[in-house]
Amino acid sequence: MYEITVHSHFSGAHRLRYLHGKCEELHGHNWKVEVSVVSNRLTKEGVVIDFGILKQKVEKVLKPLDHTYLNDLPYFSGIEPSSENIAKYIFDRLKGELKGHQGTLKNVTAWESETSSATYFGR
Ligand SMILES: [Zn+2]
Repeated sequence: MYEITVHSHFSGAHRLRYLHGKCEELHGHNWKVEVSVVSNRLTKEGVVIDFGILKQKVEKVLKPLDHTYLNDLPYFSGIEPSSENIAKYIFDRLKGELKGHQGTLKNVTAWESETSSATYFGR
């Protein structure tokens, strides 16, 4: 099995309404996003998926999140914009973007600080 990973990032603000403590107040993060795609075979070019294409797709999915107040996005009107839910948001959209390309999206990790991250594994 092969696995490739690309990194990207976006900046956003959020408020976790039900998490008591510091995160309840409006604040921002520079989220680092890690995306992994797996495949048990390679294309004739010898890759899982072209890094350039994967990065392009990731940028497309992150664009609507960048420099926003995440709580205001329709997707987060009913659920909290936690790193866990952000990772799932990215995963679900990216999965759609990668349809027709070789490889299976394995997981998306959203790092909200140097030491804290949340990963969503799709099924
Ligand atoms: Zn936060």
